Amino acid sequence: MYGRQTDRQIDMLLIITSISLNDVYEFVQPMTPKESAVAKSTGYQDEYAASEQDSALFRVLSSKRKISKNDANYINHTKDYANKDESKCSKCKFNLGDERKCLVVEGEIDNDHGISRFFSPKGVGMLPGDIVWDFIKKTGRKLNYDEGYVINEGAEGFQCRDCKYYTYSHKCLLIKGLFAPQMSCGYIVKNGNGTDI
Ligand code: SF4
Repeated sequence: MYGRQTDRQIDMLLIITSISLNDVYEFVQPMTPKESAVAKSTGYQDEYAASEQDSALFRVLSSKRKISKNDANYINHTKDYANKDESKCSKCKFNLGDERKCLVVEGEIDNDHGISRFFSPKGVGMLPGDIVWDFIKKTGRKLNYDEGYVINEGAEGFQCRDCKYYTYSHKCLLIKGLFAPQMSCGYIVKNGNGTDI
């Protein structure tokens, strides 16, 4: 979903600035809070470990309506506070870092300074994708394509080909539609993680 520089543009950058390829790579990549990708897609939680925060996502899926910032007690910390605290949106398993969105709280969120009462770090409760799977088993309703936060190309290691919900027929067990191996979504669970399916 992000535009990339062409090889020629990258060559020009190298010539003009004489900076290293690593520096160029950093420059052309979107700023991605990788912690949130890891938090939402890896872990060994089971379905009996569902937390209060997980119930909130279940309610959002059922109602197709997110929780307002007000009801979620969402606030933006000051810069100084956020620097000292690991409890922030980019560390949360509900975080959609690139989109500056949350799976539970409505509106745009601040990855570095935002926090709500639904903050859920890696290892707490179930993985978001597993909550969706639980939701599908209980309601029989698969998510529509536009509910899945689907992107055309996920980060290396966080693509459909790495996900336990991907099938050989390019389908997804959670979301309706067809998916190329390099695609990704907001509910990816890496192979070997989370609950048994
Ligand atoms: S869309 Fe892709 S990454 Fe997302 S749950 Fe389905 S298979 Fe996994």
